[in-house]
Order: sequence, then structure tokens, then C-alpha cells
Amino acid sequence: DGPRRIQQTSLVDLNTRAMHYYREQLKASPRAIDYLKRRGLSGQIAARFGLGYAPDNWHPLAECFSDYATNAQLNEVGLVIDHADSGRRYDRFRDRVVFPIMDGKSQVIGFGGRIIDQGEPKYLNSPETPLFQKGLELYGLPQARQAIRASNRVLVVEGYMDVVALAQLGVEYSVATLGTACTPEHVKKLMRLADQVVFSFDGDKAGRRAAWRALENSLALANDGKTLSFLFLPQEHDPDSYIREFGKDAFETLIEREALGLVAFMCRELASQVDLDSDEGKAKLMHLAKPLVEQIKAPALGILLRKKLAEMAGMDGGEAAQLLG
Ligand code: ATP
Ligand code: MN
Ligand code: MN
Ligand code: MN
Repeated sequence: DGPRRIQQTSLVDLNTRAMHYYREQLKASPRAIDYLKRRGLSGQIAARFGLGYAPDNWHPLAECFSDYATNAQLNEVGLVIDHADSGRRYDRFRDRVVFPIMDGKSQVIGFGGRIIDQGEPKYLNSPETPLFQKGLELYGLPQARQAIRASNRVLVVEGYMDVVALAQLGVEYSVATLGTACTPEHVKKLMRLADQVVFSFDGDKAGRRAAWRALENSLALANDGKTLSFLFLPQEHDPDSYIREFGKDAFETLIEREALGLVAFMCRELASQVDLDSDEGKAKLMHLAKPLVEQIKAPALGILLRKKLAEMAGMDGGEAAQLLG
């Protein structure tokens, strides 16, 4: 549709200009540069990801951009917030490191902003716009695409900083979901990108919950020709902190040795929820597994999962098949 496309193009232009503006501001901010250095990032990697700095200044974006953007446009793309009640208008990103978010075609569709050092909220993101739908986009995709193709592997992490730090240390095939759960649309995109999809969320409770959500959203899409696996990091780590402490080789060895396949992860998780020493626990295992098993369309994976569940419940294949369908 013509008019909408023209309008979206202008929103991309605005975001692109904002990215360049924030890049210039970064060059003028020793504090922001120092923050990125303390997080181990080089100028080269900052440039590769277009990292910038949104100052806490007295010249709001609307003034700097007055030649080519109306307030309404700045508001629509989420760079400026208009407070209807007070009539006040201010920049969304102030005194933050900004991460431009690009779609698969390298168009700037939004931003994430991190506070420097401590403060709340730690991250702010652009609002959802027709241009920017968090449930569809993968942060870092344009930068990762070549490495994903070369390794036939894509690593999925939670945060912007994870993607950038991994790339800094030579793991260039990672992308992040944007603070949202990994949606079925994400999984579809990921499976088109490579034969091996590895999820590696944070080692904390939120990360483990995110991994389970990713598994649930992967079941119907799993395919016997692809590998979906789940890497669990030590409780206190995320991919950024882990690779910084132990290095690239240790991180990649962990992927090879420790990542659990879909079947193994599901069985481990379900086993942790029941008491397999009791009949009731075994019954509950099958009860919990049934709705999950039903979603799997990959024939071989489905058989292997049923077989494993049968073993865990002390049943033979025929009995398990009767229960699980
Ligand atoms: P850092 O290493 O800079 O502290 P992180 O990426 O490890 O950041 P997490 O707290 O693990 O931060 O969050 C993971 C991701 O979730 C972030 O990169 C961001 O995309 C999103 N996120 C976290 N906190 C918020 C928030 N308050 N609002 C919106 N998104 C958030
Ligand atoms: Mn976290
Ligand atoms: Mn984290
Ligand atoms: Mn982190």
C-alpha cells in the first residue's frame, strides 16, 4: 500500500538520522565512551553496531531536528514523548547509551537505551510502531547474518549487550529477542536462518522461564532436519558475563557439550516437576507431557520423545502410545 510505505520510509529516515545524531553525541561524551570501554567494547565494535549516546541536554531532539521532522513525526516514531495533560514534551532517551535496532534489511526501526551505570529502568525501548514489532524482530541480525550463514548456526540471547559482547569476543552469529519472550514468529525466522538454533538465555530464574517459553513456542515448528538446543549458563551468568570471564573457546565448548536438545530439555524439566519414584509422579509426568507431545509434528523427534517418556514412567512403548497418542 503506497501511502503507508512512504510514511514508513520517512520514519526509517528519521530513525537513521537519530542514529547518526546519537553517534556524534557519543564522540562528544567521555563518560559514555568510558562506560562502553569499561564493558570491554572497542570503538570498532561500537561502530559496527551503531552504538550512540543520547545526552541529557537542554536542546531536545525536536530542536535539533526541527528542519526535517515535525513534532508529530518524532512522537510517532517514539523518539519524543508528548504529555497530553501537562503539554510537556521530552526526549524518550536521555543520558543513555543507545542501541539502534535494525530489521533484516538494516533499516533502523527502533532503539534500546541503557542507563549509564546504575538506575531505573535499566533499559528503555522504542514503543511498538507499525515499523517496529518486538515479537517479530531479532536484534543484531544484519551484523550476524554472514556468520550465521558460515557456521549454519544461530545463537539466541536475551540482551543487546550479550549480542555486542559476544561479537566483540568473536562469536558473531548471535541475535537477541527484544526483552520479550521468543515468539513463534521468532522461531520461524530463526529456523529459516540456520539448521542449528541454540537458545542461551540468562542463568537466572527469568532466563530459565524464557527458555521454557521458547521450547513451548518451538514444539509445533521443530523439524527432523534441524537442531534446536538450549544452553543453560551458571545461575549468576549471562552470555556477556560468561564469555568475558571464560573466553570464546570455553563458551563454544559449552555449546557443543552442554546444550540440551529439545527432547532432553523437555524431559529434564518435566522430571523436575514430579516425583518419578511414585506411581502418582509417573502418572503426572504423562499428564504434563501429553499436551506438549501432541504439538510435535517432526516424526522422528516425536517417536524419540515418546520413547523417553515411556522409559521414565516405566511403561512399554504400546502403553505410552496409548496415553500420549
Ligand atoms: P546489562 O548487562 O547491561 O546489565 P542485560 O542485557 O544483561 O544488561 P537483563 O536485565 O538481563 O539485561 O535484560 C535482558 C534484556 O531484557 C535487555 O537487554 C533488554 O532488552 C530487556 N530489558 C531488561 N530490562 C528492561 C526494562 N526495564 N525495560 C525494557 N526492557 C528491558
Ligand atoms: Mn536477565
Ligand atoms: Mn542479562
Ligand atoms: Mn548482562
